[in-house]
Amino acid sequence: MSKAIANSIKSVVYSGASAQYVENYEAKQQFAKLGSDWDDEDDSLLAEVKREIKRHYLKAQNYTCAYCRQKIVVEHNGAWDTEHVAPKDTYPGFMFVPENLCLSCKDCNGAKSNKPVLVNKSRRTFPKKSKDYTICHPHFDVYSDHIRVVGEAVLYLPRTKKGQALIEMCGLLRFVYGFADYEVSDLNIGTKVVALGTALQNAQSGFEQIAIAQMLRTMVDDGLRAAARKQLEKI
Ligand SMILES: [Zn+2]
Repeated sequence: MSKAIANSIKSVVYSGASAQYVENYEAKQQFAKLGSDWDDEDDSLLAEVKREIKRHYLKAQNYTCAYCRQKIVVEHNGAWDTEHVAPKDTYPGFMFVPENLCLSCKDCNGAKSNKPVLVNKSRRTFPKKSKDYTICHPHFDVYSDHIRVVGEAVLYLPRTKKGQALIEMCGLLRFVYGFADYEVSDLNIGTKVVALGTALQNAQSGFEQIAIAQMLRTMVDDGLRAAARKQLEKI
């Protein structure tokens, strides 16, 4: 787990033709902007803007996902998703706003999808304050104020409601429960329950205790269900 991004992420500053492209896009009427504009594969200028965004944030984030904070040292563009904090399909007007952009891993981006993140969902101007967002924001919040990442068990513990919201939105509990259908082998569940028990003992707040207790309950429930299924399969 990397602590490389101690604070918020440095924003991209567009250069040359990219800056002009973004300026032209932003000057368009609201109704003429669509989330699908991002995916126009015939637009070579757009391709360069997107490359510039990726290059910048790979460095600014030190190859670390803005949401799960896992470090993935891969240059290949396909390993990373350019992430619009306020989804581009809902807010195409914020598509190139530097503070609305970051990089995330495929799993976080897939889980977050187009879920709403704004307190005021009908905002027309770009919201620039932490309090405008329901989740802890890569640019306007300090991650560690909202989420505590615990050791090798890769546990994400909420410190605030915004932290809790991000954990849920990006499916960060996948690291505890396992990736596929919460399917856990007996061995896995034992190790993970012990890790969670330790985390519970070391919990730093009531908020954390409740979060861990809920994880334990889900895990034990799932473990019992999986064990029951296995027994049934034997019959
Ligand atoms: Zn991630």
